[in-house]
Amino acid sequence: MPTYDFICNTCQNRFDLFLTYSEYGVKAVHCTHCNSKDVRRRMTKVRIARSEETRFESMADEFTGIEGMDGDPKALGQLMKKMGREVGEDLPAEFDEVVNRLEAGQSPEEIESILPDLGGDEAPGE
Ligand SMILES: [Zn+2]
Repeated sequence: MPTYDFICNTCQNRFDLFLTYSEYGVKAVHCTHCNSKDVRRRMTKVRIARSEETRFESMADEFTGIEGMDGDPKALGQLMKKMGREVGEDLPAEFDEVVNRLEAGQSPEEIESILPDLGGDEAPGE
């Protein structure tokens, strides 16, 4: 679920809010500090700079579709491969290994049990 950043025009505090895509723009947003409705969406630098972050964000969007990919490790493997290319940096050897295993049809659980050091911080939070 996406987190939206807001700034309150009344008390100038910023706060985060979890909104689903369908709620965003529809649901009234109240400041979590003073309950004012006079809030604005905080524009992140991501929108302006065509930085790594922009790409990471669009990749993160793609990643939200992964939940529906359960049982389709090949699709997951292809997605990870694509992400690896977009990052364009040296990726750990484990990354290739995981992609190869996914493309070979192994489930993420299987791979995790074979490569227990994986995941950690990278695990998408729920
Ligand atoms: Zn406020």
